[in-house]
Amino acid sequence: MAGSPVVALPPARPAPGEPLIRLRGVTKRYGSGASELLALKGIDLDVAAGEFVAIMGPSGSGKSTAMNILGCLDTPTGGQYLFKGAHVEALSRDQRARLRRRYLGFVFQGFNLLARTSAQENVELPLLYRGDAAAVRRAAAATALRSVGLGGWEHHTPAELSGGQQQRVAIARAIVTAPAVVLADEPTGNLDTQRSHEIMGLLLALNRDQGITVLMVTHEPDMAAYARRLVHFVDGRIARIVVNPHPVVAAPAGLAVDGSA
Ligand code: ADP
Repeated sequence: MAGSPVVALPPARPAPGEPLIRLRGVTKRYGSGASELLALKGIDLDVAAGEFVAIMGPSGSGKSTAMNILGCLDTPTGGQYLFKGAHVEALSRDQRARLRRRYLGFVFQGFNLLARTSAQENVELPLLYRGDAAAVRRAAAATALRSVGLGGWEHHTPAELSGGQQQRVAIARAIVTAPAVVLADEPTGNLDTQRSHEIMGLLLALNRDQGITVLMVTHEPDMAAYARRLVHFVDGRIARIVVNPHPVVAAPAGLAVDGSA
């Protein structure tokens, strides 16, 4: 796979004025006949490069379905998904996988790290899938771990790390490929308040300092407050999009971001 081109993706940035992500009339149907369920009922959403967007809404409102589509893990039943101007809904499974590996990073509520595998090796995984050489992987993973405050913790396994540290490893794994977008699905859902704000501080830094677009599902208003826009899902539709005039610009004072907790 090394060096394989990203088929059907435009190499350049989206055309001027065109968003990084554009959903138009996106629907998703599960099942058929009596068990048919329309999980998304026509979603329109534009996300510009460099945005920080929170996705909120009650359980069952379609947030995960939308994130799976945005993350190229699933395809819409109808409508269009344009990423950098490319029609994702028309890509093959293999092409979507390439798009995912090239442009997207993922952070999950449950961290999703490989047990009995060091932090370093967990972070190297996306580079292994991409076909990078061992020395390249080692250096990039070490840099990513340092950038999330985990320099010196490379050889610890998940069981030897706190929840907050495990989520930092997961963030390092998400950013080691220098993605355009990080999709975070309730990234603080398993963490206490202090660790949650530390993780939000990290996501904020990625967004602000590296220009990574962040799409984050959260139930917690305190965490959504870091985002510039709040997209509210209700019953398979976007009920409203609220612009946050004063997003949180730094994790609350007194929270150490040194990886020690
Ligand atoms: P949320 O993330 O907001 O909780 P989901 O996107 O998980 O919502 O679910 C939206 C609706 O789609 C729910 O009614 C859910 O039961 C249904 N659903 C989700 N995934 C599937 C699936 N794989 N098969 C059938 N129904 C599903």
